[in-house]
Amino acid sequence: MTRRYDAIVIGAGHNGLVAAAYLARAGLSVCVLERRPVLGGACTTETLWGNYRVSTAAYVCGLLHPKIVRDLELSRHGFEILRRDPSSFTPLPDGGYLLLGSDPALNAEQIRRFSRRDAEAFERYEAAMDRLGRFVEPLLTTVPPRFPDGRLSDLPVYWGLLTRVLRLPPVERLLLSRLPMASAWDVLSDWFESEPLKVTLATDGVIGTALSPTQPTTALVLFHHVMGSITGRRGVWGYVRGGMGALSEAIAAVARRYGAVIQTNAEVQTVLVRNGRAAGVVLADGPEIEARAVLSNADPKQTFLRLVPREVLPADFVARIERLRMSAASMKVNLIVDGLPNFRCLPGDRPGPHHRTTIHFCPSLDYLERAFADFVQGRPSERPMVEMCIPSVLDETLAPDGRHVVSLFVQYAPYEPPGGWSAWKDEFVRRVLAVIDEYAPGFSSRILHCQALSPQDLEETFALTGGNIFHGDLVPDQMFVFRPVAGWAQYRTPLPGLYLCGAGAHPGGGVIGAAGHNAARVVLRDLGGS
Ligand SMILES: Cc1cc2nc3c(=O)[nH]c(=O)nc-3n(C[C@H](O)[C@H](O)[C@H](O)COP(=O)(O)OP(=O)(O)OC[C@H]3O[C@@H](n4cnc5c(N)ncnc54)[C@H](O)[C@@H]3O)c2cc1C
Repeated sequence: MTRRYDAIVIGAGHNGLVAAAYLARAGLSVCVLERRPVLGGACTTETLWGNYRVSTAAYVCGLLHPKIVRDLELSRHGFEILRRDPSSFTPLPDGGYLLLGSDPALNAEQIRRFSRRDAEAFERYEAAMDRLGRFVEPLLTTVPPRFPDGRLSDLPVYWGLLTRVLRLPPVERLLLSRLPMASAWDVLSDWFESEPLKVTLATDGVIGTALSPTQPTTALVLFHHVMGSITGRRGVWGYVRGGMGALSEAIAAVARRYGAVIQTNAEVQTVLVRNGRAAGVVLADGPEIEARAVLSNADPKQTFLRLVPREVLPADFVARIERLRMSAASMKVNLIVDGLPNFRCLPGDRPGPHHRTTIHFCPSLDYLERAFADFVQGRPSERPMVEMCIPSVLDETLAPDGRHVVSLFVQYAPYEPPGGWSAWKDEFVRRVLAVIDEYAPGFSSRILHCQALSPQDLEETFALTGGNIFHGDLVPDQMFVFRPVAGWAQYRTPLPGLYLCGAGAHPGGGVIGAAGHNAARVVLRDLGGS
């Protein structure tokens, strides 16, 4: 018997689950089909070894849209943010360090050791970013207007945007105008002179990105990473109690509460097309499921080049999707260790404030540029940029026996190094650990378990084309009205009845939930739901 729903969501990433929850809440019958055995896509937590709970891909939460948390009452379904204060720690080769958090006095004291001027500028910089974040927040849950072919109904969005830009104070307006084209380094240099501070902040401009912080457009990536306010303080990221997967589980619980059916181990092979419309899906193991609307949480290349029969899409659209930039840059290494890193610059292996933070192994611009130069030559970085997080310091549910879960986000990692990843993976992990050992001697000897995910592993495991963590590079011509491609940024696609609801649509990568929220609104409008 063929099953039939109002809406099918392909993929149970957090965005797919958000879309399902809103649609089910509005009274639609909804079925979510996920190819993996676990929920959450890249926002997941898995038990790889014993009882340790590992957030295998995404590891910190800062961008999740507060409206979604409120609308779906996620806190009542187990979602809890663990704030980290201080939140950032950069050990330096000369034995110094930079520790930053929410306390203006601590920040000023820390930064003053490098530059008195920067110590004064930092609060102003944070205030400007906060105002810009407030400006952008409502845009994230806005369906982008049509471009280049606008309609009269798009005018209010353009008008609202223009008036809000004009109301921004001049400092923020200037900053906003520089974001799309400037480099992260240039923008930071407008405010600061000290290298340890600039390089610590600049890492946000290159995370997940195949660019160095001195290259144009990285200011946009920098802002993308500091625009969130879910921890109560703009730009500060927190842990999710129980791991990132606990957030996806909370969203799934809401969806189920409103009647959505969520199936794991259910790979969609193709979108069913009847009479020129998406009419459902065919699963890889055979069965067809029908629906009035099909939402794809898979990335744009997976969706349009693998799941939809080519002949039903305009050739020009397919060509533009083929040309989408989805660069590899990052590798994820997950560890279980029996002791915390004991830093030369801040000795002690009992949990200290710095162990709660994002720990940046990236001491200078030169270091970062060299790491990038190796990547440009097609090789993994000799001395990689490493971001370390140890969520078990704040969350005892992750490693019940007192050991620790360590997350290492590493750059730069090409998609296909010479000889392939089988020849490189152990060597790259060795390089990563050698960098950490320089600052925290003996750390690598504390490792009990290790999982290393190359860009190709990210692609295979999470269906992320090219290992791109954002479903498409965060560059100006692939954002807002251009995401995934100009003319199709309203979550609808050239195949009527098929919608995009993941990070490949506005507002892009990261655990935000807004793409799922916005797509659900468009589907409800089209299907006539409430
Ligand atoms: C290593 C890594 C680290 C990251 N770190 C962070 C971080 O700390 N914080 C942050 O905010 N963001 C981070 N990101 C980015 C963020 O996790 C992603 O951009 C975001 O989770 C994407 O969410 P999504 O729901 O749109 O898509 P996805 O999470 O990619 O979900 C898509 C889902 O669709 C499923 N799917 C695909 N094809 C099919 C099919 N044919 N049939 C059925 N199911 C299918 C996939 O299995 C997947 O579950 C990271 C990403 C990676 C990879």
